[in-house]
Order: sequence, then C-alpha cells, then structure tokens
Amino acid sequence: MNLQEEILSNIDGRTLNYCFSCGMCTGGCPSARVTDSIYNPRKILHRAALEGRLEEDIWLCTNCYTCQERCPTKTKVADLISLMRRIYVKEKGIPGFIKPLIENLGACGFTARIGDLENKRRERMGLPSVKQNQEVRRIIEKTGGGL
Ligand code: SF4
Ligand code: SF4
Repeated sequence: MNLQEEILSNIDGRTLNYCFSCGMCTGGCPSARVTDSIYNPRKILHRAALEGRLEEDIWLCTNCYTCQERCPTKTKVADLISLMRRIYVKEKGIPGFIKPLIENLGACGFTARIGDLENKRRERMGLPSVKQNQEVRRIIEKTGGGL
C-alpha cells in the first residue's frame, strides 16, 4: 500500500481529499509561525496527497488543533498529521530526536524533565510545583514507549 492509499483507507484520512489548499491552516498554526513557515501543514497535506512523501517536518506539529478548527472544508488536518506520524513510525521507526522526549515521559510523565531542580526554579518564580504524571509513566513502563 502506498502512502496515499494508506491515508485514504483511514476514516479521518479520507478528509485529505477535502483540502483545496487555501492555506488557512498554516495561517493560524503556531508551529508555522515560530519556524518561519519551515513547518507548513498545507504543504504537508499537499505533499502527501500528490507526491506520497513523508518527511521529518511532521514532528513539528504540537497537536493544538487550531488548523482543524479553522479549516473551511473540515479537513482533519491535525488528525491527518498524527496519522502520518503513525505511518512514519511503522515504516522508519521513531526518529532519534523524539527518543529523549519518550525517555522523559518514562521518567516523569512529561516530555520535558520535571524534577526537584525544576520545581525549585518554579518556586522561585512563584509557580506551584508540578507532580510527576504517574499514569503516563506507567504506560511508558508497560509499553516501552516504542523504543
Ligand atoms: S485550511 Fe483546510 S482546505 Fe485550507 S489548506 Fe488547510 S487543510 Fe486545506
Ligand atoms: S495541530 Fe499542528 S498543524 Fe495544526 S495548527 Fe496546531 S501545530 Fe499547526
């Protein structure tokens, strides 16, 4: 099965065909803004639909869902990018730069390390301390987090 077929065989994936490349998703995307549009969800969808290619930029999505809320054709942009990530992992494995984030999830339940040091810093800034997310930790412990 090629990439287009794999995407279109998924119920959310079928919405890839709704996109008419207006660019509203990219216009509201925070990742596009902070990467000077190196990250561009419209182009990612276009590339997947017309060229059948996946590249590492799909990992710059923060899953905020702004694109999906704004899309005039109800294309499930954020869900499509999550689907592309699943296909990516199946084909190529977890990219190296994601591994430290999974290790952090296993250590504290967050993608960024939160421990005594971080909580002391938070205290100095008048912020409440953050407890480890035990549920996420246990999931990573049981599944290995795909590593
Ligand atoms: S907002 Fe919707 S229709 Fe417009 S480019 Fe993005 S996905 Fe396509
Ligand atoms: S979900 Fe991803 S692609 Fe959509 S607006 Fe948020 S960061 Fe951008």
